[in-house]
Amino acid sequence: MKRLPLPGFDVKHAVELCASGITIPERAQALMNALPAIQSAESTYLHMAPTAQLYLIPTSDGVTPQLTGDLMGVVYKSHFMRAGSPSRGLYDAIRVAPPYNLCPLCGQRTVASVDHYLPQSLHPVFNLTPANLVPACSDCNKNKLAKLAQSAEQQTLHPYFDDLGSERWLVVDVRETTPPGVAFRVRPAQAWSAVLAQRVQHHFEVMDLAELYAAQGASELADISSGLVKLGLTGGGAAVRAHLEGEFASRFERDANSWKTALYEGLCTSDWFCDEGYRLIR
Ligand SMILES: [Zn+2]
Repeated sequence: MKRLPLPGFDVKHAVELCASGITIPERAQALMNALPAIQSAESTYLHMAPTAQLYLIPTSDGVTPQLTGDLMGVVYKSHFMRAGSPSRGLYDAIRVAPPYNLCPLCGQRTVASVDHYLPQSLHPVFNLTPANLVPACSDCNKNKLAKLAQSAEQQTLHPYFDDLGSERWLVVDVRETTPPGVAFRVRPAQAWSAVLAQRVQHHFEVMDLAELYAAQGASELADISSGLVKLGLTGGGAAVRAHLEGEFASRFERDANSWKTALYEGLCTSDWFCDEGYRLIR
């Protein structure tokens, strides 16, 4: 759930570059003839996305009578993203945009491909629209595959348009068990609208983020276990807490809502964990 800048080119550029690499004249012509319709759809998209209204755009099975949905799929796969094609550089620019190659939808796994926010099968007119092309890891891509939102609340987050702000919203509940457990959940930020709060929760569920972060968190606990025990032996719970507070502050400065920031905040604010829980990590 990381914000990304919109790609720095429009659909006209994408279509023209793509068409210039198509050697079947009728196919290239069908694409160029559809350009006005594709551009008009792009401006609708750019108008509706900032207010989370993309779910209202009607689905279709083609762009023009000549440019069917199936053909638009071929245009994307066999021409737009084909290695060595004139437009491949545009695809690559979108794919490599996220810092550290991290998927913006989960913030954890690496980007594997470019995903269509509005699915190709239902909205072929947006197959080449830069604002609809989002880098994603394969799990996030699979998790949201062709799921059609029926309401504003059912829309997953869009990295180019949704701003979650800098308030803390990803939080951890420490379970006082042996070994200690960590459960991640969304705590809606004050600044969010009711719709955004439901969308973040929906995104969290669709992408299985509670499960993903819990696994990462358990592994992180195992990594820091022996260091915490050593600290506890010399400085007791106060030293453990001070260390965890430092780790939280450092991560918070970089990203207020990474799973690590949430984890360390949960740990350093748990009296139970700082006093005895850290000794129970397996
Ligand atoms: Zn992902």
